[in-house]
Amino acid sequence: MLIDKHHRIHDYLRISLTDNCNLRCFYCMPNEDYHFMPHQQLMQPQEILKIAQTFVNLGVKKIRLTGGEPFVRKDAAEIIQLLGGLGVELAITTNGTRVELFLDQLEAAGIQSINISLDTLQREKFQLITGRDLFEKVKENIALLMQRGFKVKINVVVVKGLNDQEILDFVHLTKDQSITVRFIEFMPFDGNNWNADKLVTWQEMLQQIGQKHQLTAFATEASDTSKYYTVAGHQGKLAFITTMSAAFCSTCNRIRLTADGKIKNCLFSESESDLLGILRSGGDLEQLIQMSIWDKHAALGGQFSKDFEKIDTNNLHNRSMIAIGG
Ligand code: SAM
Ligand code: SF4
Repeated sequence: MLIDKHHRIHDYLRISLTDNCNLRCFYCMPNEDYHFMPHQQLMQPQEILKIAQTFVNLGVKKIRLTGGEPFVRKDAAEIIQLLGGLGVELAITTNGTRVELFLDQLEAAGIQSINISLDTLQREKFQLITGRDLFEKVKENIALLMQRGFKVKINVVVVKGLNDQEILDFVHLTKDQSITVRFIEFMPFDGNNWNADKLVTWQEMLQQIGQKHQLTAFATEASDTSKYYTVAGHQGKLAFITTMSAAFCSTCNRIRLTADGKIKNCLFSESESDLLGILRSGGDLEQLIQMSIWDKHAALGGQFSKDFEKIDTNNLHNRSMIAIGG
């Protein structure tokens, strides 16, 4: 069992397959010229399998593949197939631009639920946010996934003045479709120009939606990072990831593995443990994993207080989101 010194059990591993991506979302990829990790620095398929198997032996029950964009990796299908054999719940987070090429492999690996990022329902704004004109492709692929019977969650990072006026349009998507829309509070990472004025809090979003709709909160698993709501008369659901205004660290069960094989015991941790290095040098993977989890800070990587207005991004030491794996 993987337990930290604050008595939290960790059974959910998020593996980043790559820090590469075909989109350029400003909140995720730094402004300056970003240098993608060289291939030899990335975990290779058999290395991912070996590391994932070790985590499963230590009690991990769910693995999510992420990135960067997992589907830009040439051997993504092979990795999905290998991990599909581990017998744990497998899930994936994608920008939805290439998922149509992998449907058979996703089904074969038993993946039922797919999270897709989409921050706007307007084509021009999509291009502004992501730097690419792929809005129609993502929309088509969401429809395709739903037709094929996948459970789809849409991740929307809400940024003040950019897409907060579209919140109700996203809520409307849940009217006749059994889809979950998850609004994510904008978080600070290296190079993303975060400041508190750009944050739209969960409470502000609730207020906006509550003026038009009747919302009812419902409970899910204690370790769930999302706060879930039904909307009266709607088939789908809403959820909020409230990292900034109401952090959920006390029930955190997550471990992150970067594409270059470093354990981050928290999304905001400054320290990392080089698991791939240990694997390649024949060292003890289990011991390093256990030590890394044990040392996890009580909240937010020990890097900032829960009072988001006091965050000074100059004092945050972390990777950019694209290099962590969201
Ligand atoms: N490329 C895939 C995608 O876009 O879904 C997977 C990787 S992406 C880093 C994972 C999630 O992190 C996405 O839902 C994205 O919107 C979210 N994300 C990235 N940067 C963020 C930020 N600064 N604040 C909040 N969420 C962020
Ligand atoms: Fe790429 Fe996803 Fe980051 Fe956007 S959020 S740049 S799609 S990894």
